[in-house]
Amino acid sequence: MDGGLLAALADLLLPRECAGCGVPDAVLCRRCAALLTVPHLAQPRRFPAGFPPTVAAGAYAGPVRPAVNAFKERGRAELARPLGAALALAVAGVLSGLSTRPGPVRLVPVPSGAAALRARGRDHVRELTARAVAELRAAGVPAAEARLLRRSGRAADSAGLSAAQRRANLAGTFALRDGARELPDEAVLVVVDDVVTSGATLTEAAAVLAPAAGPPVLAAVVAATPRRPPAQAPRSVPPRRRGGSADRLSGPGNAD
Ligand SMILES: [Zn+2]
Repeated sequence: MDGGLLAALADLLLPRECAGCGVPDAVLCRRCAALLTVPHLAQPRRFPAGFPPTVAAGAYAGPVRPAVNAFKERGRAELARPLGAALALAVAGVLSGLSTRPGPVRLVPVPSGAAALRARGRDHVRELTARAVAELRAAGVPAAEARLLRRSGRAADSAGLSAAQRRANLAGTFALRDGARELPDEAVLVVVDDVVTSGATLTEAAAVLAPAAGPPVLAAVVAATPRRPPAQAPRSVPPRRRGGSADRLSGPGNAD
């Protein structure tokens, strides 16, 4: 029996551990899930021109990193529930910054590259999007998924590149899909992704979507790379309306 099969069997037979900190009996324990209930504006270190207003549910640091990576790279698909709830909270957070009550809300998943999709065997951002849409609708937000973006070019692997290089590398990566013409009038587009680091991906996605969008394009992510260690990072929390959609979301803490 090879190691991969053994690991898969062990995964089935052994009790689950928290993907963030390893405590038993939880997909994501309450303490780790609570780290994804602090919606704040994402502020990349070098703010790219055109970076859309982006809210993250938590900081991509500490136990959040292994939790996101377990979902993204190690096939722990059951994390879609708590991480999708975190994404919904981030979407509600960025919508709460609008001066008027939004009409139809369309979550636009950032498409993964073909090689990444083949390697993972799934589209983890769409899994997050589906969960987030379900959470938002349950909270009364008229949300739906809109797959408006597709990959157009062949961006090289961005590992090891500077923020500016990443941006150049991504330019021309996305193109509009045909569905853009069927958008409801005044739909608010919210680009969604798992993590924001340099902001290059969201900036490029927002630029491609802008001609199809009525209101300005927004963005929401599960977690944002903090500019400074989280203990010192200033938190810029968008105002939460009392009884608003953010308050009625269950949040990732209720997922276990
Ligand atoms: Zn934990």
